[in-house]
Amino acid sequence: MVKIRGLVAFQNRVRDELLRGVPPEKLDTFRRNIESAVTAVKKLCDDYGMTPDELPGPSRNAYRYLASIDLSSIPATEPSAVQQPRTVKLTRVVSTVNVLSARLWAVRDRLLNDERVFAAVRDELAASARRVEELCAAAGADPSMLDGRTRPAYCWLKFLSEGKRLEDHLLALRSARAAAIRHLPRQRHEIHFLAMSAMWKMDRTRTATRHRFHEGFIACPEPFWDDLFKALGANRRDEFGRMLTATTTEEPFQEVSCELESYAEPGKEHSQGRHYDLDSVFARVNSAYFGGQMQRPVLTWSRRLTSRMFGYYRFANDRLMASQSLDDPSVPEFVVDFIMYHELLHKRLGHLEAASDRRRFHTPAFRAEERRFQEFEEATVFLRQLSERMLASR
Ligand SMILES: [Zn+2]
Repeated sequence: MVKIRGLVAFQNRVRDELLRGVPPEKLDTFRRNIESAVTAVKKLCDDYGMTPDELPGPSRNAYRYLASIDLSSIPATEPSAVQQPRTVKLTRVVSTVNVLSARLWAVRDRLLNDERVFAAVRDELAASARRVEELCAAAGADPSMLDGRTRPAYCWLKFLSEGKRLEDHLLALRSARAAAIRHLPRQRHEIHFLAMSAMWKMDRTRTATRHRFHEGFIACPEPFWDDLFKALGANRRDEFGRMLTATTTEEPFQEVSCELESYAEPGKEHSQGRHYDLDSVFARVNSAYFGGQMQRPVLTWSRRLTSRMFGYYRFANDRLMASQSLDDPSVPEFVVDFIMYHELLHKRLGHLEAASDRRRFHTPAFRAEERRFQEFEEATVFLRQLSERMLASR
């Protein structure tokens, strides 16, 4: 399979620049870069005797996006406008996260048993996130402009301090640790859940075997950890890898992922996509399923293509995000409608559920409501396959 390295990243950069406007003096270079990327992809495909339509999903979407840009009407910034930095680099955010994650591991049981310790650690996470926000503001930027390594680290701090997820994180540490000890009793273990691009990494520190999992795995129930470490203990690495990958396509994982990412989305709304307009999607779903009674949330496409999560609704700022991966002619309209419907259900049912101390988003009541969607089966099958295709082509 032909993969084109860097094409998706290039597309994301182009998209960011189009959203912000391109300074007039850079317009020529900007156009030339897009043209030469499009030409290079065509040529490369030619060399392999294929068309760009046969590229794996993310590359194909990136190519289509780039090829569809109208180079004659690129939005330009005012010459006098203050230029915002494209990315902000902050040192020490990643190391702060590593230190705090080690703390969570070291005092996990006390955190769960002592409300004062719990509150103190959450305040520390919040203070670290605030510090990042202040540094961004001082640079005339916001956290959505943080560079690739720092942005997830910032999201992690926000997620654990604001998202009421710290307890889930600690309970997952406890379940994973118990399973690790059960199936690998001769080793000392150290476990972390982090916002990282890999799903799992294992290495050795001086004193222990260190497992780092993507934060999304905090959504996994106890039996998952038992099966997972059982496979690892028996050295069945293939099975272990398959279990990890399968989990990442499931909704609980995707929602944690999406919640994480949502903390560093740009503040302004971006509802008109390349292909679908979230405004009309909302209007359609609102009238078909909510009698037109639903208040419109802030509607926005995610900035990045995602393969594991397709939508997210956040109560705190009444913001509904749909994944850019769905903004494509190959995705049927009813699939985008379904994501809208699902997320709006969270908006409608969420306040009741928030009353319980651990938020359980997908209650049986939620699931029953979800099934009212007319093409429920078709939409869920399509999303699962899309996710699997995108993961396979990475
Ligand atoms: Zn959901």
